[in-house]
Amino acid sequence: DLPEHVIKIDRLTKRYGDVTAVDRLDLRVRKGEVFGLLGPNGAGKTTTILTLLGLIEPTSGTVRVLGMNPTKEAIKVKQRVGYVPDSVGFYPSMTGRENLRYTARLNGIKDAEDRIADALEQVGLTEAADRRTGGYSRGMLQRLGIADALVKNPQVMILDEPTIAIDPEGVKLVLDLIRRLRDERGMTVLLSSHLLYQVQEVCDRVGIFVRGRLVAVGSVEELSQRLAQGRTVTEIA
Ligand code: ATP
Repeated sequence: DLPEHVIKIDRLTKRYGDVTAVDRLDLRVRKGEVFGLLGPNGAGKTTTILTLLGLIEPTSGTVRVLGMNPTKEAIKVKQRVGYVPDSVGFYPSMTGRENLRYTARLNGIKDAEDRIADALEQVGLTEAADRRTGGYSRGMLQRLGIADALVKNPQVMILDEPTIAIDPEGVKLVLDLIRRLRDERGMTVLLSSHLLYQVQEVCDRVGIFVRGRLVAVGSVEELSQRLAQGRTVTEIA
């Protein structure tokens, strides 16, 4: 194992009763890369992400994030890993800035004002920051979710379907932002998506997830060559 592996998953299995959501998954995410977890709905992406955050316990296998076991060190993991769920909930009657203040306080972050202003700037919401989030578009809420995660200055960002249900302009803003976090802050990013074309330009590597198994891992070029040869996702395993 290399120290540059920020996320290490070995033979992770998660079962819910008879359903095997994740099936003997091995995965390595390197420091400073954007890794895309690609796969259809129900493939097991969210389950994998939730084990990385310590929110669900594996049935078997091991998971390490920044060398920590998320099940045992959930609080430390939470401090160092930013998580943006696929649907971010904010209080609609509060402004963007007030919402960020609220979570900063919940997370025990003191003197958060500068960090909040910086995070809002990063995601392009400075102008909208003092408007109620009830009037935000889905894309703006998504970016506010990223800002919310950025306030704690995490080393790793995990984004579940960051481009789902947002307009093309919003997708571009989110992808530009992910690229900047990697290039300017050296952040490691794990994102999930069910649409390769939406995220391919930002991912250094992608893993294709089908029915709880990772069937292929490689750069977008490598995998698209294999797909272009007329092979389906399950055949390139
Ligand atoms: P989505 O994009 O829909 O969230 P996903 O790839 O993230 O898809 P998961 O949400 O991880 O997939 O679900 C994987 C499988 O596990 C699915 O068959 C799902 O129905 C099942 N599953 C997930 N959570 C539970 C649960 N709490 N109880 C029972 N089954 C579950």
